[in-house]
Amino acid sequence: MNEDVYLLRAEKGLFVVCDGMGGAAAGEVASQMGVNGILQHLEFARGGASGAHAESHDRGWLAHTKRLAAAVRRSNEAIYEQAQRDPSQADMGTTVVAAWIKEHVASVAHVGDSRAYLWHDDRLEPLTRDHSLVEARVHAGLLTREEGSRAPDQNVLVRVLGREPEVDVDVKEVPVQPGDYLLLCSDGLTRMVPEPALATAFARERDPQRICDQLIDAANGRGGADNITVIVVEVRDGWWRRLSSRWKRQPRPTGSTGAQDAETYPQV
Ligand code: CA
Repeated sequence: MNEDVYLLRAEKGLFVVCDGMGGAAAGEVASQMGVNGILQHLEFARGGASGAHAESHDRGWLAHTKRLAAAVRRSNEAIYEQAQRDPSQADMGTTVVAAWIKEHVASVAHVGDSRAYLWHDDRLEPLTRDHSLVEARVHAGLLTREEGSRAPDQNVLVRVLGREPEVDVDVKEVPVQPGDYLLLCSDGLTRMVPEPALATAFARERDPQRICDQLIDAANGRGGADNITVIVVEVRDGWWRRLSSRWKRQPRPTGSTGAQDAETYPQV
């Protein structure tokens, strides 16, 4: 049974990993709903209302960060409502980690213990902090990180999508440049492979697929106790240049506005 779901929309700069939980097949439903909800609520389709659903506590973030956070919150509402309607899915929930790269800034949103990292300047920087009981204890100084990594109750999460009508979404903005890599992954990777070993894969390989393969091999080599989902995004100069020229060549359909064209082909 695989309760992990991932989404790749490289042309839009959007990448998501969800790791579901819940009895029967509910975990798979929750993680699929998490991914679908984000895609739907980002309203990539023409006519999408840019900046809609932003809330007061989002002030100070870039527009696309606010939209990503709002999409995650809407996704939470949809899963929660579904769980309330169907008793067999009452306990379902999912983690989420999402990155939306636009105009050389990666907006990262997360809830739960799926993680994002940035590989920049030969260093792997964590972009998320788990919403887990263990992480809370480490943060409070009650456990060392080393003790935390061996704690028996590592799977206890203090925040997930779908369990409460509203959820706090942690967001972060990080500038990215050619040569950088983003890593998004479920805990099936990070529980098995310590951060220095994650970094080794990026130090050794340049090709994103080979980095993915190395990371998954490393997790399986250390026991592979859970489903392992890994997204590696290579930030390339030509990527947004290509999209930009495609956007310029695209004939503008009658009645559409420039803003909508820019939305359909964002300059990543
Ligand atoms: Ca998992």
